Amino acid sequence: MAYITLKNINKIYPNGFHAVHNFNLEIEKGEFVVFVGPSGCGKSTTLRMIAGLEDISNGEFLLDGKRANEMGPREREIAMVFQSYALYPQMTVYDNIAFGLTLQGVDEDVIEERVQNTARILGLTDYLDRLPRALSGGQRQRVAIGRAIIRKVGIFLMDEPLSNLDAKQRVTMRYEIAQIHQETGATTIYVTHDQTEAMTLADRIVVMKDGYVQQIGTPYELYFQPANVFVAGFIGEPPMNFIRGIVKNGRISFGSAQLDLSQKLGRIKEYEGEEIVFGFRPEAIQLGEQPDGYQIPCQVELTEMLGDNTNIYITAGDQQAILKVDSHDTPEVDTQLTFSIPYDSVYLFDGKTGNVIQ
Ligand code: ATP
Repeated sequence: MAYITLKNINKIYPNGFHAVHNFNLEIEKGEFVVFVGPSGCGKSTTLRMIAGLEDISNGEFLLDGKRANEMGPREREIAMVFQSYALYPQMTVYDNIAFGLTLQGVDEDVIEERVQNTARILGLTDYLDRLPRALSGGQRQRVAIGRAIIRKVGIFLMDEPLSNLDAKQRVTMRYEIAQIHQETGATTIYVTHDQTEAMTLADRIVVMKDGYVQQIGTPYELYFQPANVFVAGFIGEPPMNFIRGIVKNGRISFGSAQLDLSQKLGRIKEYEGEEIVFGFRPEAIQLGEQPDGYQIPCQVELTEMLGDNTNIYITAGDQQAILKVDSHDTPEVDTQLTFSIPYDSVYLFDGKTGNVIQ
């Protein structure tokens, strides 16, 4: 039996706004699940319903198999870390971490042991006497996490916990959160709009858009088997390239270029005369003509050197795309070249629904 179950969960706010539609998910004990999607897609609302901070308008929420819709936040044995760390400025790191246990009247010795243990996991042992203002953003975030994990609850909810940190700190904290999860084994639900955070942390990712779940899967599944154009474009950096075109005699054309889709036939026959989307990832291409792939002539417009690889912005026919290549292979701007997309790296989507064509 799943540890956390969301069955047809909906949220309709008092002003009538329908923020979450028929959300279904089962989470196993110890899993790290990430909700990801653009701003306003309903991630925080769903997390807050799980925390008990927001009523569930309809649907059923089960904890360990028992209905928990009506349970208050405390009864749910859930700890939450918010975007703003909400530390007490006048309390030391030690007291901030200990606060929840002190309130519960837990024995001083037990508190001491658990604070020390939590501080060790989080690398805060040397900072226990400091006030929050004497800490870096990353250290403050660790204290906020410490306050949550010291409670030893079964479920850990995090709402954009890294969004106040700079890029470098985010990478470090991402690694630390993964380590904390390994060490505590706590079931974790983590909200972010950052696909890299989702991909690197999650056992499974829930991609949301406009209140609807678009796909649920492992990072591998979302990257290699996206269910629709939205997921394909959201997961991966730079995003997947999309070329729209009407299928004519088993081909799509864009400008002077043409792609013969006979290699991907299957259901494509049903799309004769209809619009489809031809998708390929910037990193899936090879420069030059290669066997078993689409050969696409293009013009190099701009290059962006990122270190080990370079993004090349190209125009092909009337379409634009980004190619990601080894920096040693960077072509000159304004040159004409041909690149190749292996047949098995191409995704075709229905032009109307955006769903993948199997
Ligand atoms: P973000 O990444 O910006 O935090 P999110 O995916 O977490 O976005 P939510 O905060 O869940 O999005 O909001 C989902 C939608 O519900 C938004 O359109 C938001 O404006 C709306 N919403 C949130 N709270 C309320 C409320 N109290 N009353 C009415 N609508 C609300």
